[in-house]
Amino acid sequence: MTSTGFTKHAQDGMARSGVITTPRGEIRTPAFMPVGTAATVKAMMPESVASTGADILLGNTYHLMLRPTAERVAKLGGLHKFMNWDKPILTDSGGFQVMSLAGLRKLTERGVTFKSHIDGSKHEITPERSMEIQELLGSDIVMCFDECPALPADRARIAESMRLSMRWAKRSREAFGDRPGHMLFGIQQGGLEQDFRQESAEALREIGFDGYAVGGLAVGEGQEAMFSTLDFATDMLPEDKPRYLMGVGKPDDIVGAVARGIDVMDCVLPSRSGRTGQVFTRMGVLNIKNARHMDDPRPLDENCSCPACQNYSRAYLHHVFRSQEIISSMLLTWHNLQYYQDIMAGMREAIAAGRFTQWQADFHAGRAQGDIDPL
Ligand SMILES: [Zn+2]
Repeated sequence: MTSTGFTKHAQDGMARSGVITTPRGEIRTPAFMPVGTAATVKAMMPESVASTGADILLGNTYHLMLRPTAERVAKLGGLHKFMNWDKPILTDSGGFQVMSLAGLRKLTERGVTFKSHIDGSKHEITPERSMEIQELLGSDIVMCFDECPALPADRARIAESMRLSMRWAKRSREAFGDRPGHMLFGIQQGGLEQDFRQESAEALREIGFDGYAVGGLAVGEGQEAMFSTLDFATDMLPEDKPRYLMGVGKPDDIVGAVARGIDVMDCVLPSRSGRTGQVFTRMGVLNIKNARHMDDPRPLDENCSCPACQNYSRAYLHHVFRSQEIISSMLLTWHNLQYYQDIMAGMREAIAAGRFTQWQADFHAGRAQGDIDPL
């Protein structure tokens, strides 16, 4: 079996470009992972997701364990076969979504018990159970089970939570065992506090992981606080392993994170926005439901290669959105995912060429310019 690993090909400032190797394929970094919550990236066929340039998807343990259940997915041949995606899949640990979605949670040293948001049934996730579920799903990159407080939280609460997550990280590592071809990522916690981030990073390095995530950000602290935390947090993680910033973000969050040494990110934003009519382009953000698009025969972005831009006018996209036609979600999601992957490709190329600073200036200038003038 092909082994797993991370090779850094280039560095420009703090920004890195490279490749994560897995038996299911290479993940070019910096990488953006579209979110396939319930074994689908909503409104997209898997081959369409791949055509945008995505090398990896994220699946949500919490959702999949409740429905259709990890055991059922395993019996049906694993998540890749089940959802018809043969490239790598990363699954989260379930911890974050238990905290944000489930009812009646009870947190103990052992793990979390909770009631399903779907039918109220009672479930438990422990570090051991999270590793078992992610193995049943057949995930290529497995995340440690962790816990994080919503921010703002006081220092005592952040420290207590971080230390529990580090004990769970050790249990996750032990339960994961030795599984060639699969990677386990640890998750740094510690809120916005430099000393706790350091303590967490040291605990994780001591245990040893195949990659390291920066957790507990993008939970309401704002971009400035997130960036100033990344300024010290990323550097605490091993330089020769991939670094993953969970749940980020808007296009400028992504670019800022890469500039601070992050290699992998995921976010529902491009797909979710596609369903609500919010469109990201090189010229910023537009809303397709606005009347200004009603008579506009031009594409969303004349330089975009996606089918929405190649074959359809703003007027048509406006019409199908207003008519609540399913094709509206399909086309706008496709465009947004294409835009995100184009950003990643642009950054990889710029980092490799040593012109990432110029690339960032062009990126910000394009977005500051705003959408094309109405006709
Ligand atoms: Zn497009």
